Amino acid sequence: MDSTVAEFDLIERIRRRVAARPDVLLGIGDDAALLQPPVGMHLVVAMDTLNSGVHFPPETAPADIGWKALAVNLSDLAAMGASPAWCTLSLSLPDASTGFVEGFLDGFLALAAHHDVALVGGDTTRGPLSVCVAVHGFIEPGQALRRDGACVGDDLWVSGTLGDAAAALSQWQAGGAIDPALRLRLDRPTPRVSLGRALRGIAASCIDVSDGLLADLGHVCKASGVGAWLDVDGLPASPVLRASFDGEARRRLQATGGDDYELLFTAPARLRDSVLKAAQSSQTRVTCIGQITAVPGLRIQDGHGQLLSNSYASFDHFA
Ligand code: ADP
Ligand code: MG
Repeated sequence: MDSTVAEFDLIERIRRRVAARPDVLLGIGDDAALLQPPVGMHLVVAMDTLNSGVHFPPETAPADIGWKALAVNLSDLAAMGASPAWCTLSLSLPDASTGFVEGFLDGFLALAAHHDVALVGGDTTRGPLSVCVAVHGFIEPGQALRRDGACVGDDLWVSGTLGDAAAALSQWQAGGAIDPALRLRLDRPTPRVSLGRALRGIAASCIDVSDGLLADLGHVCKASGVGAWLDVDGLPASPVLRASFDGEARRRLQATGGDDYELLFTAPARLRDSVLKAAQSSQTRVTCIGQITAVPGLRIQDGHGQLLSNSYASFDHFA
């Protein structure tokens, strides 16, 4: 049964369900949390907001909203090579519905438990449905995977597969049925935390693919002062995506669609074996999709080495 309660009761419901961590000296309930960062580590902090209708379809299940709100934040820490520890949660709710909050927590806390992340505080307000999460994690000094580290000659790699989330969104926008496998990738992205950790000391640069491959690659190239070429027909695609989308439609979903939360990273060619070992140790598929070049801008080739840049120019934030 769904019911509405006072905001205080909502917070109490949240507090009762959160897991402990020894480094959380004081969690939910006081004016602020007291946390013990490990000696000698740098603190890594990220924040992302999800707004109903903008970042997820309004009819998305509360548990999926909860999962995704944390996943997109963990993905940012993964892209830094950081180990996540704590998070805070600001919830804006149209009404104090216990059904929504319990469902939300089912997804949020399942992912939090998987990564041993403790929810240590937050804020609860009335307003249009919006979820803002901040995550805190740690990294060894000097080990962070930054956007500005790509070097000429680096291999360009991507984890997992690309295009599924955008494919689900396009099916939703077309008003038709959404393939359940694609929908799962949109609603429940997998933050590549263990791959990010395994790439410390190997990857020269890294970013997570949230805006779309070309846009995010553009960020890396701009920050690093380099260019890149990539084989758009060599992008890793899931079997469902291959079965449902062909040719130019699939290329566009894979190259420009967002919301995949895969890691896009570069590494020196001599570390190819180390990259593959890191992928194996974190049980994550990786694919080499191109190379970093001295020539600025993105050069997009098809499977035959034919240049395609012009047809994607509008998506090239970097050119
Ligand atoms: P204050 O008025 O001091 O900000 P609040 O009533 O906003 O206190 O919050 C009380 C406690 O509950 C604080 O410890 C806060 O961090 C926690 N809290 C509030 N909302 C949430 C939430 N959505 N998720 C987790 N903790 C929350
Ligand atoms: Mg408050």
